[in-house]
Amino acid sequence: MAFELPKLPYAYDALEPHIDARTMEIHHTKHHQGYTNKLNAAIAGTDLENKTIEEILNTVEPSNAAVRNNGGGYYNHNLYWVVMSPNGGGEPTGELAEAINDSFGSFEEFKNQFSNAGATQFGSGWAWLCVHKGGKLEVCSTPNQDNPLMSFVDCSGFPILGMDVWEHAYYLKYQNKRPDYINAFFNVVNWDKVAELYAANK
Ligand code: MN
Repeated sequence: MAFELPKLPYAYDALEPHIDARTMEIHHTKHHQGYTNKLNAAIAGTDLENKTIEEILNTVEPSNAAVRNNGGGYYNHNLYWVVMSPNGGGEPTGELAEAINDSFGSFEEFKNQFSNAGATQFGSGWAWLCVHKGGKLEVCSTPNQDNPLMSFVDCSGFPILGMDVWEHAYYLKYQNKRPDYINAFFNVVNWDKVAELYAANK
């Protein structure tokens, strides 16, 4: 079964002015489509064809660059699209808000740590909020298309919020000003979806 590029749950211009339509369209139709195609090419004719993307990431060897980079790229963007929403922003509520307070002390402190993880990731990569079994939350970052599900990555737990800090995610609108993109990202975070992923994986 080949992996397929998912449709976005909103229009390309739905996240304006925080994330611009042109960036969203290129990101989805060129970058994410590219990772999807190259992942399918890399697993064609191998036993990975019958595995889920989570199983593939859990077991990929660091030396398998094609599956590591494109499997990560496929999965990471699937998550990225759904943790953003035109109705997003603000702060989480309920048990996710409590877990953030328990793990970081306050939402502001979580936001500082997550923003800093994205801002200080050298070159291309991702910032993550992950949940461990039992509900403890962790912020971390990974280079390139690595993902906390990969066994060799220094970042563990299940990713429930991912922020793409590759230049292709922000350069058209924000150029070199990554911190401005990170601030804008918080205006579109779909906390309902993050809370759903928290509840399902805590
Ligand atoms: Mn990307």
